[in-house]
Amino acid sequence: MTTRRPLIAGNWKMNGLRASVEAFCQIVAGANELREKVDFIVCPPATLIFQFIGSCDSGSVEVGGQDCHAEPSGAFTGDISAEMLADLGARAVIVGHSERRAFHHESDADVRRKTQAAWRAGLLAIVCIGETRDERAAGRTLSVVGAQLEGSIPDEATPRNLVIAYEPVWAIGTGLTPTPADIAEVHGFIRERLNARFPVSAQGIRILYGGSVKPSNAKELLAVDNVDGALVGGASLKAEEFLAIAGVYA
Ligand code: PEP
Repeated sequence: MTTRRPLIAGNWKMNGLRASVEAFCQIVAGANELREKVDFIVCPPATLIFQFIGSCDSGSVEVGGQDCHAEPSGAFTGDISAEMLADLGARAVIVGHSERRAFHHESDADVRRKTQAAWRAGLLAIVCIGETRDERAAGRTLSVVGAQLEGSIPDEATPRNLVIAYEPVWAIGTGLTPTPADIAEVHGFIRERLNARFPVSAQGIRILYGGSVKPSNAKELLAVDNVDGALVGGASLKAEEFLAIAGVYA
């Protein structure tokens, strides 16, 4: 039987200034207590990655980016490459977050190229997939998630280079969550698809749930079959909330 280590990842989005190192160091202090049982990644804005990595002996918390360009360098004003993130000391990068897909019109093919870029730079790719409210209402959740999975994940996936985050778009930042049964259905479906495509390594690939995870619902959501941790947005900005979510595994 494969055991997958739980992972709690925080997506700070466009939040945080240099003074936020204090909150990061509080996370590190709490993570030190839980490191035997849980892996931690915090993805602050790119402006803070270098500072966070150099602060408060951050060893129990990996730091990651929130996006990367597919190319290693070039005339892409404002963009940041996976190599640049790795150069700062980042170990992971989120790709295909629904806010990137919606506001920057990123397609599955774009996300696939970014995932390949992450691997080229030696980063763990946290690939986000998930249906919109209308797609769920139309009964299309599994077909949408299946197509995103197929289109966004390159063939070289392994448990060491890939984490999948199932994030229903309608649950992000809304306080709404699917029922545990609905999450179990989608995570089970993702696991089946991974098994079919990567028969040797699929059992080791972690699948996170993301979307309005809070201390008050973490126990119920993280207990669902095939949920190997959480990608946390709003609640990752407050150390005590983020650590309380991870504390479910204590
Ligand atoms: C996210 O943006 O990845 C996310 C899960 O946000 P929130 O936890 O705020 O819903």
